[in-house]
Amino acid sequence: MQRADVETGSVVNQIVCDRCGKETTRSETEFHEMTSIVFKAGYGSIFGDGNHVEIDLCQHCLRETLGAWLRVRDDETDRERATGRLVRLVQTMVEESGNPVGFDAAQWTAAFLSRPMPALGGKAPNEFMGTEEGQALIENLISRMQTGAYS
Ligand SMILES: [Zn+2]
Repeated sequence: MQRADVETGSVVNQIVCDRCGKETTRSETEFHEMTSIVFKAGYGSIFGDGNHVEIDLCQHCLRETLGAWLRVRDDETDRERATGRLVRLVQTMVEESGNPVGFDAAQWTAAFLSRPMPALGGKAPNEFMGTEEGQALIENLISRMQTGAYS
């Protein structure tokens, strides 16, 4: 028989930026924009094997120190751009098949993206559009389709 006691774990309620010293508490939005890097250095590390390396940075210091190398992306914009590429691909394929009259590539693509497919394990193409790998997969899938599928 096991008897469990309720123990309270430690919860971080305040973070201090190691660079500028700004303090922020859980109730503030700045708190949730803090970045913490925590790792244990391994064999061959320039920080020394087994040493713990930690830093907490506010979003302003993060951008000021690492901004030049940070990859900042807008997921939605990225997804829209990828969808636009698919629409152009579909349009081109239909034009090449010689039967573009009355065909709406944007509409067809939207319907295609939301339809679950056996080839994708029963998932809809939309679920793959959030990553570059997924976008390439869907683009590839469309480009291999028979033009007859567009009717
Ligand atoms: Zn700071």
